[in-house]
Amino acid sequence: MLKKDPIIKIEHVYKYFGSFLALEDICLDVYEQEKIVIIGPSGSGKSTLLRTINQLETVSSGKIIVDGVEVTNPKVDMTKVRMRVGMVFQNFNLFPHKTVLENLTLAPIKLKKMKKEEAEEIAYSLLEKVGIKDKAHSYPGQLSGGQQQRVAIARALAMNPKIMLFDEPTSALDPEMIGEVLDVMKNLAKDGMTMVVVTHEMGFAKEVADRVVFMDHGKIIEIGTPEHFFKNPTHPRTKQFLNQIL
Ligand code: ADP
Ligand code: MG
Repeated sequence: MLKKDPIIKIEHVYKYFGSFLALEDICLDVYEQEKIVIIGPSGSGKSTLLRTINQLETVSSGKIIVDGVEVTNPKVDMTKVRMRVGMVFQNFNLFPHKTVLENLTLAPIKLKKMKKEEAEEIAYSLLEKVGIKDKAHSYPGQLSGGQQQRVAIARALAMNPKIMLFDEPTSALDPEMIGEVLDVMKNLAKDGMTMVVVTHEMGFAKEVADRVVFMDHGKIIEIGTPEHFFKNPTHPRTKQFLNQIL
């Protein structure tokens, strides 16, 4: 049987910030419905790699193809591609002066030309899915961190993306709120979403990841199943990292 084309194809990507090499020869294929967890020490290039997928960061060389579109081609209009790729950040990045409901309906109305009523209907069902329908008319500042992050996930889902990128979505949360956000992500994974997740939550990696990617100093050092990673990591640097955090 022919294997399906990957939905994300990263080919020999290099990224320089000035003379600093932040990504070195990154190659990674992500398949539809796959869950990839990226781990690695601070400064290893995890965020930079994630951001190149929707071109919040350009690459210095190499190629990235997302859902059949070569996003690293500067001539490509990224608006459409970004609609298919949702992103959730460590610090939520909600619009503080808009209600939760408005946070969710803004992009569908503006970019998808959706009718307000339809956008609101979708927004309510997503808020229900992440367990905060009762907060539709609150402002982000009135919510806990865990609630804000669930709004941020619902907002990304409102665009009906094919891929979701998460950059340390629980790192800014108080410990008691981490679980509720991970639960939403686990449900999303069960629904079959393609997900690339940067996280230090090894329990999540073990439970959800199809493959774990370990990065260090801008390079992918090791890729494998959670089973491989947590039982038999091969690279000494992976072992060292896991010993430090587990
Ligand atoms: P991680 O997410 O793994 O902590 P990052 O991708 O944020 O790592 O950063 C990788 C390296 O690139 C770090 O050394 C960081 O200081 C550097 N870097 C990231 N963004 C920029 C930028 N806009 N300008 C200069 N250096 C940057
Ligand atoms: Mg980061």
